[in-house]
Amino acid sequence: MSIKPIRLFGDPVLREKAQPVKDFDKELRILVKDLQDTMMEAPGAGLAAPQIGVGLRVFTYYVDGTLGHLINPDLDLSEDLQDGEEGCLSFPGIYYDTPRALRVVAKGFDENGEPVTIEGSELLSRAIQHETDHLDGILFIDRMDRDQRKLALKAIREAEWAGQAPVVKQSPHATFGRAL
Ligand code: ZN
Repeated sequence: MSIKPIRLFGDPVLREKAQPVKDFDKELRILVKDLQDTMMEAPGAGLAAPQIGVGLRVFTYYVDGTLGHLINPDLDLSEDLQDGEEGCLSFPGIYYDTPRALRVVAKGFDENGEPVTIEGSELLSRAIQHETDHLDGILFIDRMDRDQRKLALKAIREAEWAGQAPVVKQSPHATFGRAL
């Protein structure tokens, strides 16, 4: 069991584009395990490799009691949208409405290099979109409408962890399992 420090907003690694996984080797399986352990400990509903400082296209999720992971994801989004609060383990305590596609079909690979397809709606769809965004250096504040983003940025400036990045630090707040 290996729990890694979660990188907070302000750490440049969160704005970098992650690289596709080429080698489905033991090192990759250790990364998936580290992501799972760190996500479950937080606790969170999703965690992407850049959030623990690894620039590879890998994420894990834990939604509705299902633990999963996806490598090199490729998403097909529904035109129907959902609204609702979203959080992020890299923004402790920050929850604001963030529009997302209602449904997603995500294609990718598992840790053994086998192709997998995950179909999700609502929270699973939200989590998959949020984590895939992390792999492109996109953060949930980028997906909010203008008013929500203004509120979120103000709350971030006032947060006790603001300005501490890129110092690597464990999330100081409980996230009640809702953050991604
Ligand atoms: Zn996140």
